[in-house]
Amino acid sequence: MANLNIDAKAQNTYDAIVIGSGISGGWAAKELTGKGLRTLVLERGRDVRHVTDYPTTMTQPWEFEHRGQLTKEVKDANPIISKCYAFYEGTQQFFVKDAEHPYIQEKPFDWIRGYQVGGKSLMWARQTQRWSDFDFEGPARDGFAVDWPIRYADLAPWYSYVERFAGITGNKDGLATLPDGEFLPPHEWNCVEKHFQQKVAGRYKDRHVIMGRAAHITKPQPIHLQQGRAQCQHRTICERGCPFGGYFSSNSSTIPWAARTGKMTLRPDSVVHSIIYDEQKGRATGVRIIDANTKQMQEFYARIIFLNAAALNSNLVLLNSTSHRFPNGLGNDSGVLGKYVAFHNYRAGISAQYDGNLDSTTDGRRPNGPYIPRFRNVYKQETDFLRGYAAGFSANRVSRSNQDGIGADLKQSLLNPELGGWSVGSHMMGETIPKETNYVALDANQKDPFGIPQLKISIAYDDNDDKMVKDYQEQMTEMFTAAGFTNIRVRDDRRNPGLDIHEMGGVRMGKDPKTSMLNKWNQLHAVKNVFVTDGSSMTSTSTQNPSLTYMAMSARSVDYAVKAMKKGLV
Ligand SMILES: Cc1cc2nc3c(=O)[nH]c(=O)nc-3n(C[C@H](O)[C@H](O)[C@H](O)COP(=O)(O)OP(=O)(O)OC[C@H]3O[C@@H](n4cnc5c(N)ncnc54)[C@H](O)[C@@H]3O)c2cc1C
Repeated sequence: MANLNIDAKAQNTYDAIVIGSGISGGWAAKELTGKGLRTLVLERGRDVRHVTDYPTTMTQPWEFEHRGQLTKEVKDANPIISKCYAFYEGTQQFFVKDAEHPYIQEKPFDWIRGYQVGGKSLMWARQTQRWSDFDFEGPARDGFAVDWPIRYADLAPWYSYVERFAGITGNKDGLATLPDGEFLPPHEWNCVEKHFQQKVAGRYKDRHVIMGRAAHITKPQPIHLQQGRAQCQHRTICERGCPFGGYFSSNSSTIPWAARTGKMTLRPDSVVHSIIYDEQKGRATGVRIIDANTKQMQEFYARIIFLNAAALNSNLVLLNSTSHRFPNGLGNDSGVLGKYVAFHNYRAGISAQYDGNLDSTTDGRRPNGPYIPRFRNVYKQETDFLRGYAAGFSANRVSRSNQDGIGADLKQSLLNPELGGWSVGSHMMGETIPKETNYVALDANQKDPFGIPQLKISIAYDDNDDKMVKDYQEQMTEMFTAAGFTNIRVRDDRRNPGLDIHEMGGVRMGKDPKTSMLNKWNQLHAVKNVFVTDGSSMTSTSTQNPSLTYMAMSARSVDYAVKAMKKGLV
């Protein structure tokens, strides 16, 4: 019997365990296996294999039962995820339905999740702007949160490393606020976007309109072809999964790459319950899971553990990993676990029309758009709110086709629509300040279908966010007016936190173990063989989309962990 137990334990023992197979977990798996470690990837959702498990990727609009729309039944049953623009008939299979995995909204929070192999990397919008020192130095300079233990220079080589592999399109714009990367050719502009760029450049020294940097292969390099990925076809139905691998997802890129090493064991349907801490050894020894099919609890063991369950779920796993030594959650000596959660303020937008360039229109599609990097409070504090916002921008020619009729007449009118003026618009992407009062915790009473405590989320906007919305509306109105746009309308949709899908923090990095959970290597201060490299580790949020930074941090952290492991330090 004793021997059987030893055998079973040996069978369940790996060099490394990765929890979660989304953007950050995929990178951890790729890097760990690439360095020769036998790695177990535990994923709570089902398997989604590249190409074969994208059921709607070739579906034409008329082939959908509801022409791509959500039915009233689906909307009524899913009031939260129905708010997400990317949730529609063709993508339903990749989103967690509201009733499936309940959580408690102490304050309104729209939690958008993807529980499957690949996580949210299947449905993301692929914007990949680097962060800069204006972001990493923010908390220290402006006196909020705690100082980041790293600076841009620590991440720069890792940004380059992940960009080359993932395939990032962009233009080298030479801006201090938005460092350039290893770019594939940029996407094209249309004439009204160019017009706006020139008008802004002519009026403001510190405001720039650039083409977004995005995880699309505009010109495949050998490393992309080796992954079996090809040039992006500009189909702009990315969220259904791309059979060309034209955009970066774990499913098309990092996970199959890790599998090819022969070192990865991928275990879908494995809901991680907690991380096991051995009091005698003073280290984590493994992970407890609940098999989603059998509901049985099982244990797996490893030398090092990477936690990549996405920001709020990584908080949940650590909070649920209690022991005599850590009664309030693994590594939580400081008491900050679950606190200082922040997100992006996407509430504001602006739209207008432009009556110039009426001799031109656009042709084709583009899975990307122009981007305005942050310009407020960059070099000095100049407003009555802290930090600032970036903005998206786009211009489209309005076309009206007469959809009456059938057959050849209908085709003719669809092919030759009546062209109206140009419609222009922008949306805000604001930094929010991490605060102790914005937190997540385990609910004392309610459990999920696996018997794991439900997450209680208590996150809200504050006065700083309201002021920022107002400033965005005023500044963008000024810029739109300068560009000759008319019929300008601003909005504040007062959306709930969460719908930005950029929640971060709760397991923040910092220099001081008394006020932070992780050190500069994303390693728990108090449990040296546990690393957390997803959004939960972010000390502050910047204004840029965060996933590229998670990728770079994951690769950097694995590099450190494996070196430390070889030296016997973890
Ligand atoms: C519509 C949409 C648009 C977006 N656009 C952008 C964008 O343009 N740019 C950008 O940077 N970001 C964007 N994001 C956000 C981006 O998708 C996330 O930041 C990114 O996926 C986070 O990576 P992750 O590895 O932390 O989490 P995920 O990719 O969500 O992966 C986490 C994985 O962990 C698994 N998991 C969770 N809990 C457990 C557990 N207990 N046990 C085992 N497994 C578990 C999940 O099932 C999931 O597979 C967007 C997201 C969406 C949905």
